[in-house]
Amino acid sequence: MDHYDIAVIGAGPAGAAAAIQAARGGAKVVVFDKAPYGRDKVCGDGLTPRAVGALNDLGIDMAGSHHIDGLRMIANDTTRELLWPATSRFPAHGAVWPRRKLDAHLIDAALEAGAKVIFETEATPTLDGTRVTGVEAGGRKIGADLVIAATGAPGTVARMLGAERVVDEPFGLAIRTYAETPRHADKHLEACLTLTDEDGTPVPGYGWMFPAGDGTVNIGVGALSTMKGFKKLNLNKLLDSYRDLVQDDWELGPNLERPRAWRLPMSAQKRHGDGWVAIGDAAGLVNPMNGEGIDYGLESGMLASDLHLENPATAPQRYDQLVGERFDSFLRTGRRFSFLIGHPWILRTGLRMAVGTDAIAKITLQVMGNLVDSESPGASGKVLKAADSLLGLADPVLRKTRAVS
Ligand SMILES: Cc1cc2nc3c(=O)[nH]c(=O)nc-3n(C[C@H](O)[C@H](O)[C@H](O)COP(=O)(O)OP(=O)(O)OC[C@H]3O[C@@H](n4cnc5c(N)ncnc54)[C@H](O)[C@@H]3O)c2cc1C
Repeated sequence: MDHYDIAVIGAGPAGAAAAIQAARGGAKVVVFDKAPYGRDKVCGDGLTPRAVGALNDLGIDMAGSHHIDGLRMIANDTTRELLWPATSRFPAHGAVWPRRKLDAHLIDAALEAGAKVIFETEATPTLDGTRVTGVEAGGRKIGADLVIAATGAPGTVARMLGAERVVDEPFGLAIRTYAETPRHADKHLEACLTLTDEDGTPVPGYGWMFPAGDGTVNIGVGALSTMKGFKKLNLNKLLDSYRDLVQDDWELGPNLERPRAWRLPMSAQKRHGDGWVAIGDAAGLVNPMNGEGIDYGLESGMLASDLHLENPATAPQRYDQLVGERFDSFLRTGRRFSFLIGHPWILRTGLRMAVGTDAIAKITLQVMGNLVDSESPGASGKVLKAADSLLGLADPVLRKTRAVS
């Protein structure tokens, strides 16, 4: 039986980052993806400054991406355009990089680093009791000291590992397509925070225009499961109505492909165990306040591999602890916040505040850029800590009064 130091299931950004880091560190790595090389992923293609920071850490050449200077937030008649802030932790720019190209670029870097990558092959973990000993793929068993589940939104692998989403916690759904626009080289991401469904109910979520610099813009909408009527929400119609709203400003051409929707996991029952860890979406690492997760996927992938290179015996447990310290309080606050904005009147009031003044808009910007976490200094870090405590107190009430779908 072949044996590897690390077997990665899933060749998205999270899995590729783990493979690059581990292979460069001298580990023997194999990566499986059930999709072919160059597969697309339903995504907004937006890279936060945090994601650019992670790609810089991985030494990825970003020449193929479209440089983004900031975010334009629109709430009803108010528009606020802000530059990404310069911080000591992250670069002051983001990017848009269509996933077909970004993911291929990253997995090429993993190959270059020496990882073996096997496409069009579904892999599942092999279990000895609760211990993961390797993977089964293409009818073969392969041993591995560490199996990294980088499988995206939960499916078979999450079920086998007990790493499915927490049923009681929120999740998101989002849909996107592409269209041609003369504004394709715009240097700002645009987010419209005041979406309403067919009945005029405010939707906790946003519509986005992410210009790709290649003649096209990625246009999409996303919504949180905490809204009343979520199960009935028709994402195609929501996208159509958002398209109508932005059509003239962006001089949009017809949709270049059929709009496609996908899930945004925002929790996981477990993210480690004996012989395995889950990273990226498979670990529920998506910001509930903006649906972004590429940056967290890259970071968690690198972290898992670093810890394995340091000490294989303690890596899964240390990984869980360090991911917890970096992300848990922020993501928990985000999930609680999403219960809060599931109430339409709170959402309306909150949105007015979110872009109402420059000072608050700057905090909204940091949240939308995934720039805030438990390590954040300054006003946004303080606001996050205060929100965590306040929403913690309010959490039982928020859950009890949650909007019923
Ligand atoms: C509509 C939409 C818009 C979004 N917009 C943004 C955005 O603009 N910016 C942002 O940062 N995030 C965005 N996100 C979230 C982002 O797409 C995810 O956070 C990101 O893709 C997570 O990367 P990942 O590597 O964890 O998983 P994925 O990218 O989902 O990759 C998982 C891989 O695992 C493979 N796989 C799964 N199971 C198996 C198996 N058993 N065997 C082999 N292979 C397997 C899949 O084929 C896939 O290639 C968006 C999400 C959606 C749905």
